[in-house]
Amino acid sequence: MTNSVAIAIGAHPDDIEFHMAGTLLLLKHAGFATHYLSVASGNCGSTEYNASTTRAIRSTEARAAAKILGAVFHASLCDDLEVFYTAGLLRSLAAVIRDVKPVVVLTHSPQDYMEDHANTCRLVVTSVFARAMSNFKTTPSRPASNGAVTVYHAMPQGLRDGLRRRVIPGAFVNTTSVQTAKREALAAHKSQQHWLDVSQGLNSYLLAMEEMSRDLGRLSRKFQHAEGWRRHLHLGFCAPEADPMAKALGAKYLVNAAYERDLEDPLG
Ligand SMILES: [Zn+2]
Repeated sequence: MTNSVAIAIGAHPDDIEFHMAGTLLLLKHAGFATHYLSVASGNCGSTEYNASTTRAIRSTEARAAAKILGAVFHASLCDDLEVFYTAGLLRSLAAVIRDVKPVVVLTHSPQDYMEDHANTCRLVVTSVFARAMSNFKTTPSRPASNGAVTVYHAMPQGLRDGLRRRVIPGAFVNTTSVQTAKREALAAHKSQQHWLDVSQGLNSYLLAMEEMSRDLGRLSRKFQHAEGWRRHLHLGFCAPEADPMAKALGAKYLVNAAYERDLEDPLG
């Protein structure tokens, strides 16, 4: 699978570890080259250090996490709470997409508890959509590159959208075999663990991730630990039924029949 490339794009350093890292590890095991990008720097994630110190600490931690995941690290593009749907961020993100040429893109849910997450999702969808549009200029400048890409959305925090409605996955990925590495990668974000340990009790950071993956495992009725995904509509991206993760992950990928039933065309 020399052409197989996947990129995970989260809003903040540690979002990939919470929602996507198990799947990214399994794709790597399946022969994919993997990439890791947090759009925002994480500079607001401390009450102990100022923004520039926090930015530097979190960049070092994210690099360590990407190394544990065996993924190529990409630097952040802006600061926390400044993830806006702007031409500038689209141009930067589209340059990464044109460089990396992924066939699988993992990113946030379009609906999530925090605007940085939802805005990251919008930026990712558009920058992937623009991959082959030569009149859209990227920063730095990169030639347009055509190719099928499938975009997968992770589950929102708390498995609910911003209006409290439950969100169910279109597919489950069995992350049980990589749970230890996923935990190690999350633990690399030491400053965040310290911050939450102090405010919420020992290891709450790691426990929250474990709880989410167990909840999704239970929801799958099959796996102990799982991550959930919803596949973006194919238009402008790939063939209608393209689902490269199903192909790559085999028995570790379970389509959620309940979700698929809801997609059925009532006119047949
Ligand atoms: Zn976040």
